[in-house]
Amino acid sequence: MTQVAAPGVGRTDAPTTERVSHWIGGQSVAGTSGRDGPVYDPATGRLARYVDFASTVEVAAAVAAARAAFPAWRATSLSKRTDIMFRIRNLVEAHRHELAAHLTAEHGKVPSDALGEIARGLENLEFACSLPTLLKGGFTEQASTGVDVYQIRQPLGVVAGITPFNFPAMVPMWMFATAIATGNTFILKPSEKDPSASNYLAELLKEAGAPAGVFNVVHGDKVAVDAILEHPDIAAVSFVGSTPIARYIYETGTKAGKRVQALGGAKNHMLVLPDADIDMAADAAISAGYGSAGERCMAVATIVAVGSVGDPLVAAIKARLPQVKVGPGNDPTAQMGPLVTRQHRDKVASYLDSGPAQGATVVADGREHPLYRESEGFFLGASLIDHVTPAMDAYRDEIFGPVLTVMRVETYEAAIKLINDNPYGNGTAIFTRDGGAARRFQFEVNAGMVGINVPIPVPVAYYSFGGWKSSLFGDLHMYGPEGIQFYTQAKVVTARWPDPGTSKIDLGFPRTR
Ligand code: NAD
Repeated sequence: MTQVAAPGVGRTDAPTTERVSHWIGGQSVAGTSGRDGPVYDPATGRLARYVDFASTVEVAAAVAAARAAFPAWRATSLSKRTDIMFRIRNLVEAHRHELAAHLTAEHGKVPSDALGEIARGLENLEFACSLPTLLKGGFTEQASTGVDVYQIRQPLGVVAGITPFNFPAMVPMWMFATAIATGNTFILKPSEKDPSASNYLAELLKEAGAPAGVFNVVHGDKVAVDAILEHPDIAAVSFVGSTPIARYIYETGTKAGKRVQALGGAKNHMLVLPDADIDMAADAAISAGYGSAGERCMAVATIVAVGSVGDPLVAAIKARLPQVKVGPGNDPTAQMGPLVTRQHRDKVASYLDSGPAQGATVVADGREHPLYRESEGFFLGASLIDHVTPAMDAYRDEIFGPVLTVMRVETYEAAIKLINDNPYGNGTAIFTRDGGAARRFQFEVNAGMVGINVPIPVPVAYYSFGGWKSSLFGDLHMYGPEGIQFYTQAKVVTARWPDPGTSKIDLGFPRTR
């Protein structure tokens, strides 16, 4: 994480006066901490603007605004809240190109990819529009004589979301759509690398009629995150990011008495059996490995080729690599943009050295791409490393870039052992024509999201998203039905309306019979 001591100190970039400020109580609020961070245009490598970093004081101001808004918001009728959710959905849809432009400018993803991200976020807003149905509780009439029992779900209060750089619009929508629709008020702490999309969303929510304080944005680094984790008026924290930070968020947040769901990193395996359609598997590997420059937590990171399928599959993937057009977002033919920062690009590229040094074979080296060598942007071409083994850094680390690895195993049993031994368990996929093998894989594999001939099995919004093992800390997955559970608490009411004059004292234990 980039930490900058004070505005302007030690910087060599061309100066800029553009700033991204916080959004508190329905308006933009300039930072007062004296700390900020640089935001780059990954396609040019140039410093584009600064983002204010919140201190505990600014986080407390956001919590106060959210707390003040909560009583009226939770008391707002479901039909009115649904109306606002519909308006938010429609405004995001209507302004998707403007929102996508923020993603391209700061994350670097090409417009088609940015629009795809927004489309997946919109699904969550659409799901949230059906909240009145989803919030329906249960009712038991005559549990005892003249006694009815019913369950309702109520919001938690002020809840917070801390989000990663790689989906600056979709992951916030995963969280806030359900959180505010269920009656909570929300504080978003987005990634400091691409902060502008959050403020743009805040403006759309305001235009849609969300009352001031229902949705707030505080920008910043660990200082802001720790202030969220420690604030006694925040009831729950949703987090998406890398595993070490997810673990820290879960441990610190739960210790402070909060409800926490913390989604971490991934190493997603794509198992290809010898009977698979090679062309289909190769196309899938290209899309899932290099889409969004490999900066997706559900990206295929490694292909596990079983038996004889390895050589033809690697040849088919290699043959397709020239079709992956790398370029900036303003090039309409570009399919894969730059990486988010120079530091990250260089770390990703380093596996092209450590891989062969540890015995792997580099089939394609993205550093040979002209944009890697000639551009100031953070580009790296599509790269492929074959004969990777579990001991190598290229397998042990989450690379999170356009470096796809291939591992060779002899049997299905060896493949499933490899996948299940991995500390991550986010997504995985099998490519085969054998329904029995696919069903066995679905039964045996230790991962939260499984694709059968589908390389990136991100659940639709009416299911929930979450991994296993070190890919998720907490009990409940993100969005969908489990998201509703996460952002609400159950209350069970036992009620009786006796006729006046029938009351009597009974010191016995309450009975239902
Ligand atoms: P990150 O963990 O560096 O940052 C995520 C958030 O945590 C940011 O808001 C950041 O400001 C904050 N943060 C960073 N360092 C911190 C610290 N020391 N203390 C407190 N807060 C800190 O992750 P990233 O690089 O922005 O995103 C990429 C990672 O996110 C990858 O590991 C990827 O797999 C993961 N990811 C997971 C999912 C999922 O659903 N499981 C989805 C998207 C991304």
